[in-house]
Amino acid sequence: MLNPATGAFENELRGHLPDRVFRPLTPAYLEERRGRYKGAGGLLLAPETTEQVSRIVQACNAARVAVVPYGGGTGLVGGQVKPDLPVPVILSLERMQALRGIWPDENLMVAEAGMVLEQVQNLAEDAGRLFPLSIASGGSARIGGVLSTNAGGVNVLRYGNARALCLGLEAVLPNGEIWHGLKRLHKDNTGYDLRDLLIGAEGTLGVITAAVLRLFARPQDEGAALMVVPSPKAALGLLTIARAEAGDMVSAFELISGQGVQFLRETMPDLRLPFAEPPEWMVLVDLGVSGGLKAQTLLEQIYLKAAEAGLTENGLIAQSETQRRQFWQMRETIPEANKRIGAVVSNDIALPLGEIPAFIDEMSAEIRACGPFRINCFGHLGDGNLHYNIFPEKGGNRSTYDDRREALKDMVQRRVVAMGGTISAEHGIGRLKVADLQRHENPAKLAAMRAIKSALDPNGIMNPGVVLSQSVAP
Ligand SMILES: Cc1cc2nc3c(=O)[nH]c(=O)nc-3n(C[C@H](O)[C@H](O)[C@H](O)COP(=O)(O)OP(=O)(O)OC[C@H]3O[C@@H](n4cnc5c(N)ncnc54)[C@H](O)[C@@H]3O)c2cc1C
Repeated sequence: MLNPATGAFENELRGHLPDRVFRPLTPAYLEERRGRYKGAGGLLLAPETTEQVSRIVQACNAARVAVVPYGGGTGLVGGQVKPDLPVPVILSLERMQALRGIWPDENLMVAEAGMVLEQVQNLAEDAGRLFPLSIASGGSARIGGVLSTNAGGVNVLRYGNARALCLGLEAVLPNGEIWHGLKRLHKDNTGYDLRDLLIGAEGTLGVITAAVLRLFARPQDEGAALMVVPSPKAALGLLTIARAEAGDMVSAFELISGQGVQFLRETMPDLRLPFAEPPEWMVLVDLGVSGGLKAQTLLEQIYLKAAEAGLTENGLIAQSETQRRQFWQMRETIPEANKRIGAVVSNDIALPLGEIPAFIDEMSAEIRACGPFRINCFGHLGDGNLHYNIFPEKGGNRSTYDDRREALKDMVQRRVVAMGGTISAEHGIGRLKVADLQRHENPAKLAAMRAIKSALDPNGIMNPGVVLSQSVAP
């Protein structure tokens, strides 16, 4: 049984923490972007040091008060809000933004969890390095949230997801103890890996307070091209050619559907789009090259080889950085257009690359047989991660399909799992997919997850109801 964060609990804490840690709770901390969940209230605390985080978590554990870690609030599965009672402590990392150190020659930096992703990227750039994790919410998402959701983004193909970009962590465990794991080591085989447990745990196993982040040499030249392809199968053929020509210098390989471009036209008529008539499928290929090579030349080579093989029909190679940014702006604005249209169901899935063409064909036929739905299938094709979103017919309203949402979602998830895929590739489980995980995940893994949760957080205070269905009580 958990207890609410009452006035008496707050008064007790005030004896141990500076006044500035106690912040007025504004509505923003109780909302999430897609409007699916609304927080029931809470005591907002914004500590400045790891010791203060520890003090807060210790008090919460002793009083059985829930803790909801809060980064930038951009998570898409509702993990950062607690809609049910009792009200929790909302623990915002926003004031822990220090750069604890940067080692350009080791390609490492240590940042506190509240540092905004864009700031991490800027500091790396100031040191002549690259922090490659790139997501459209990078101006708000904080590094603790990015790690806790194991965020992916557009450069996973080349550099890996958040987990691959982190060498060590400092965290406060559910009993308030501080784990000092900020090792600048690439190799450390000393038993169970707490870092890997906490990354992607969505705040259910502790609070991340700082991280050792991997940096990379900046590419000497960058370029992008939009290539029109006849089908997703051809897009994969083009990926093979791109990798044969440019190897690991392919930084991103994004699939864009004509439906997505159509949504941009419908919702943002002033946005400049590269093609007068949106093709049914295109890919955005981005290269970051070194060794005296020119990105444009390589992109031309890729285009010619793909055209010879009948894999592309048309294309545009960015002639300037401004044009490259325009291509990216189109890609990165698609989620906003989706939001304005209003999806009946959104899916963040991953599949083995070779299964993707059959999945798209068969799934779309199955969905269209159910009604006049529009499908926007787009995303990080290079690493097998697609956003497969289903929308009402033009002029229709998503609420018309409220009673069919679950059935449509289940249809997609069943096919994904049957084809060896996953129902959550990069957004996590949060509150939104708890039942889906329960339904589709391997029972042995679920049992192990529960055992871990119960061992580390026996009172079930850390983000209850997120990832796993119920808090683990003694
Ligand atoms: C426009 C847009 C585009 C996006 N694009 C992508 C994308 O391409 N790829 C992708 O993977 N994701 C994407 N996301 C979602 C992505 O998960 C979040 O943007 C980001 O990773 C979460 O960071 P945050 O600081 O906002 O975390 P929050 O939303 O505040 O929290 C997310 C979860 O992490 C927990 N948490 C937060 N901080 C900590 C901490 N310090 N310790 C422990 N737990 C913590 C919270 O309790 C919650 O469960 C996108 C979101 C938006 C709005």
